[in-house]
Amino acid sequence: MQYVDLSTPDGFRFVFRCERCGDGAASEWYAFNTAGYSPPPSGKARELLWLRQHKEAYARAESEARYEFNVCPVCGRRVCGGCYRVTDDGRGDMCRDCLKQEGRNPC
Ligand SMILES: [Zn+2]
Ligand SMILES: [Zn+2]
Repeated sequence: MQYVDLSTPDGFRFVFRCERCGDGAASEWYAFNTAGYSPPPSGKARELLWLRQHKEAYARAESEARYEFNVCPVCGRRVCGGCYRVTDDGRGDMCRDCLKQEGRNPC
């Protein structure tokens, strides 16, 4: 899945992008957490802690982004709600590009 990593030394945020129109959905902000460490870790220890939390934050943001996007069963791209057509009968749901290719009305 396409994403932009906006994480800083103080926290983590990711923007996931629709693979059709490029529209982004930003995850919430996950603050870097030094709780339990007094004084807060620095240097290598902080770096390792940051990397671990970065991984966790990404996993959480990615699973939340799944609700924002739909995977087109035809082309396999992950697209936003605006680029995805849900049909009334639930069959033939696909992204608007694939709808067009099938000669169907993409609106
Ligand atoms: Zn889109
Ligand atoms: Zn598609």
